[in-house]
Amino acid sequence: ESFDSMKLHENLLRGIYAYGFEKPSAIQQRGIVPFCKGLDVIQQAQSGTGKTATFCSGILQQLDYELVQCQALVLAPTRELAQQIEKVMRALGDYLNVKVHACVGGTSVREDQRILQAGVHVVVGTPGRVFDMLRRQSLRPDYIKMFVLDEADEMLSRGFKDQIYDIFQLLPAKVQVGVFSATMPPEALEITRKFMNKPVRILV
Ligand code: AMP
Repeated sequence: ESFDSMKLHENLLRGIYAYGFEKPSAIQQRGIVPFCKGLDVIQQAQSGTGKTATFCSGILQQLDYELVQCQALVLAPTRELAQQIEKVMRALGDYLNVKVHACVGGTSVREDQRILQAGVHVVVGTPGRVFDMLRRQSLRPDYIKMFVLDEADEMLSRGFKDQIYDIFQLLPAKVQVGVFSATMPPEALEITRKFMNKPVRILV
C-alpha cells in the first residue's frame, strides 16, 4: 500500500511527499481511507505511530476549500500537542492553502476571536479554549462536519470529560467522529457509544 493508491487529492499528495513521508505507516495504511470515506473511526494506537498524519490527511481530503468556514475541529489534551497538530495540518495542506488555527489557553482570547472571524477551515485546540470560543459564538459550529478527539484517554484523565460532552452538544448531529486513543478506558468507550455511528475500529 502506498499514499498514491489512496485516491488522495493531488495537492494533498504533494504536501505529504514534500513533508518527507514516502510510505504510509501501519495506522495510515489502515486508517486514512476509512476516514476519507466519512466513516466514524476509533483508532487505538500509541503516539509515534503516525496517527497525526492519519487524521490530518482525512480532514484535508474532505474539506471544501471554497468555503472558508470551520469544517473540522480537533481536540487535544495539551497546548503543545494542539500546536504541533496545527503545524502538521498546515504543512500537509501547504499546496491546498488550508487555513488552520490553534485555539489554546494561555494565548490572547481577542487574537483567537480575530483569526476565527477572518475565517479558517480547521480549528485544533484544547477543550477549554475551544468551548470558550463556541460559547462566545466566535467559533460557529454550523459547518463542522468532522470532529477528532486526539489522545482521548489522556483528555479524559485530565478531567476534560464535561467539556468534551458540552462541545458534542453544540456540534451538528451528523458530524463525522474520529477517536484516537492509546487505551480505551470505560469513559472513552462511553463516548464512542454515545456519540459515534457504527464506528470502524482499528487497532495498531
Ligand atoms: P505521530 O504518531 O503522529 O506523533 O507521529 C510520530 C512521528 O512519525 C512523527 O515525527 C512523524 O513525522 C513521523 N511519521 C508519521 N508518519 C510517517 C511516515 N509515513 N513516514 C515517515 N515518518 C512518519
